[in-house]
Amino acid sequence: MTEPTYVIAGASLTGAKAAEELRNQGFGGRVLLIGSEPERPYERPPLTKDYLRGESVRAKAYVHDSGFYAEHEIDLEMGVTVTAIDPAAARVRLDDGREIGYDRLLLATGAEPRRLPGPGADLDGINYLRTIADCDLLRERLDAGGRVAVVGAGWIGSEFAASARQRGLEVTIIDPLELPNERIFGTEIGAFYRDVHASHGVKLLLGDGVEAFEGEKGVARVRTSGGRVIDCDFAVVGIGVTPRTGLASEAGLKTENGIVVEADLRTSAPGIYAAGDVANAWHPFYGQRIRVEHWANARHQGRAAAQAMLGQPVSFDRIPYFYSDQYEVGMEYAGYATKWDQVLFRGDREGGEFIAFWLSEGRVVAGMNVNVWDVNDQIQELIKSRVQIDPEALTDPGAPLASLAETETI
Ligand SMILES: Cc1cc2nc3c(=O)[nH]c(=O)nc-3n(C[C@H](O)[C@H](O)[C@H](O)COP(=O)(O)OP(=O)(O)OC[C@H]3O[C@@H](n4cnc5c(N)ncnc54)[C@H](O)[C@@H]3O)c2cc1C
Repeated sequence: MTEPTYVIAGASLTGAKAAEELRNQGFGGRVLLIGSEPERPYERPPLTKDYLRGESVRAKAYVHDSGFYAEHEIDLEMGVTVTAIDPAAARVRLDDGREIGYDRLLLATGAEPRRLPGPGADLDGINYLRTIADCDLLRERLDAGGRVAVVGAGWIGSEFAASARQRGLEVTIIDPLELPNERIFGTEIGAFYRDVHASHGVKLLLGDGVEAFEGEKGVARVRTSGGRVIDCDFAVVGIGVTPRTGLASEAGLKTENGIVVEADLRTSAPGIYAAGDVANAWHPFYGQRIRVEHWANARHQGRAAAQAMLGQPVSFDRIPYFYSDQYEVGMEYAGYATKWDQVLFRGDREGGEFIAFWLSEGRVVAGMNVNVWDVNDQIQELIKSRVQIDPEALTDPGAPLASLAETETI
């Protein structure tokens, strides 16, 4: 009998963690990890932070050291793209003409930056930031100094803006919303981040959008819908990402805001799984599908998908978590809050060391610790407990968070 072949399409964090886990679990068949990018799997968070600023070396970004894949008999094929899946024949086609049969297939194809349409959108000097190649280009831009227009005050835009300021560039952020990340944070924390950027000398044009990019040789100006003109030497656009579902949908797999998967990360086609940024997964705790575009989800879902591929029982129910570093402000956020009726604070809000809690009907639905550490697990326990919590205890730094999850006080 031939050994089973497990193919992983997409060699970034999710794919690399899945391959590692297959070997950790003792899988003895062939593991083929295929990635379009020329680099071996790397983590993207440093690309808006230390690596972008030239404060850390490339080697620190890789998920594994260079010998890892050979040592674990993982066939890593970089610079190769999976171009088609034939679920009926259980085969994938590659862009170098090969066809490979699989026993299990994991789709870890991630997401790609949404492009800004409109006049001048194709001018030179308008950058997107997803890959290490994009980042290398922007590192050179930061070395050259000057003025940058950042379109979008979400994660990528905000973190890029912070790093560019730290490198001494003149930075203007443009966003149609009134506050950074307003949809996730609401007004209180959105205003906190607005003030953090303003206090570091970023010019914020909020409640205004891009009408056109202008310039002769490359982008030299951004014209906004509000009639303002921002001169710049280059621009960075961070307006969100789109899940890479083309491969899956062309093969007839169910897609909707990503590849639709169950709690065990199984797609609608037999033997095919999806995880990471591309997966819209049934979440047992929330009782709905959610697609999470964050580092921790990629790490954990990659592993969980490997376990599911091996036939182990999997029900992926982690509370979504992410982190962000901007200037001296480090934070962790846990939860999935689409609506809330109250935001409460514990700690020193003015001094920038606090925990914010988003509550719905007295229950914590999300929490964010800002420059306060070793509390995020407890915040997640509070969310999972679903207990109604006494606001006084929640906001009292003297009341241990861990105990609150055990006592329904209302
Ligand atoms: C600049 C930046 C900074 C970030 N910072 C943070 C942070 O601070 N905190 C946080 O929580 N999250 C952060 N994130 C998000 C986090 O990096 C992502 O959630 C994570 O990368 C998702 O991993 P993934 O493997 O699912 O997808 P991706 O990282 O998108 O990787 C998918 C890979 O699959 C490849 N691929 C696609 N299609 C094919 C195909 N057909 N064949 C072969 N290969 C294919 C792609 O080339 C890509 O390499 C950041 C993201 C970026 C871009």
